[in-house]
Amino acid sequence: MGFLAPILSELAPYVPGEQPQTHDFIKLNTNESPYPPTEAVVTAATYAARQLHLYPDPTCSLLRRTLAQQLKVPMSSILVGNGSDEVLAFCFQGLMGQGVSFPDITYGFYPVFAQLYQVPAQVIPVTDTFAIDLADYQDATGTVIFANPNAPTGQALSADRILAFAQGNPDRLVIVDEAYVEFGGESLVPYVTQQENLLVVGTFSKSWQLAGGRLGYAVGSEKLINELNKLKFSFNPYSINGMTMAAGIAALQQPQDHQEKLVAVMATRRWTLTKLQELGFEVTDSQTNFLFPRHPDIRGEWLYQQLKDRKILVRWFSQQRIKEHLRITIGTPEEMQLLIQALTDIIHEKREMI
Ligand SMILES: *Cc1c(COP(=O)(O)O)cnc(C)c1O
Repeated sequence: MGFLAPILSELAPYVPGEQPQTHDFIKLNTNESPYPPTEAVVTAATYAARQLHLYPDPTCSLLRRTLAQQLKVPMSSILVGNGSDEVLAFCFQGLMGQGVSFPDITYGFYPVFAQLYQVPAQVIPVTDTFAIDLADYQDATGTVIFANPNAPTGQALSADRILAFAQGNPDRLVIVDEAYVEFGGESLVPYVTQQENLLVVGTFSKSWQLAGGRLGYAVGSEKLINELNKLKFSFNPYSINGMTMAAGIAALQQPQDHQEKLVAVMATRRWTLTKLQELGFEVTDSQTNFLFPRHPDIRGEWLYQQLKDRKILVRWFSQQRIKEHLRITIGTPEEMQLLIQALTDIIHEKREMI
């Protein structure tokens, strides 16, 4: 095997949540929208399928223009990618010349990308209450990246705090991964054009019902976006297919529908939070489309398995600090009722056993 690059033997790839290809599970493990795309989105993608014999537009101009209007930034401030994972990969590959720091409890892809692109990384523990304290990043060097709201904790920092940190560290780049921002966080997008060391990454996977389309983006100064474009055009200029582009544009043209589904998820989140607390779970409010509960008397891994046996998939992480927690995506009201019923049964049966 002498032909393999040495880095391969070191690499510990990202482990995605389970994606069962049967329909007998209630899927609350990868933070997708529980609602399918609208008819208009499906029609747009179907129509675009008629052009599958041609390469798609490598500059994605119509999609970028539509997104730019929505975000109120110039089109030249937007890069789109094959999911925000691709955008984040470009960031790690190209924008971390002085190293990177990120929280210990955050999106699991950051350490993988740091390893893949051999970026020296400083991992900064979140506080006892799982909060990111930016003061802890003051003495680190290089780029700072974190999700805001953070995953899997569901907690958010205010835009003011992040902006103040970026202003106080003008020589360092601050990348804010806003995968969940629309569920209750404050976006930094309005500041990226003035604050040149700020870059926001977003996705259509969580709030736009397009996880399967693979569509993500970065918003930043024209200069930063140009640098990222160099990487994109040195790797795969056609990473976004025409059907996904059409679906993204059609989704953006239905802001009302988007808003209604956000409101629905947030209402279901509130209901689920209360029910979990009634069952004895410790769970704090979330600014995302998931909750991060922990039961004081029941092991996280055991609960995960019990739910799986009942055909409900949630996410469990083996990481020491969070191994008694579960990350539970907010599904439809019906799905959450079934979840709460299953948890009620599990806890009841456990009591009988003792
Ligand atoms: C889901 C998620 C992503 C990746 O989203 P894609 O656009 O589907 O690649 C990025 N960052 C965070 C924090 C996420 O939770």
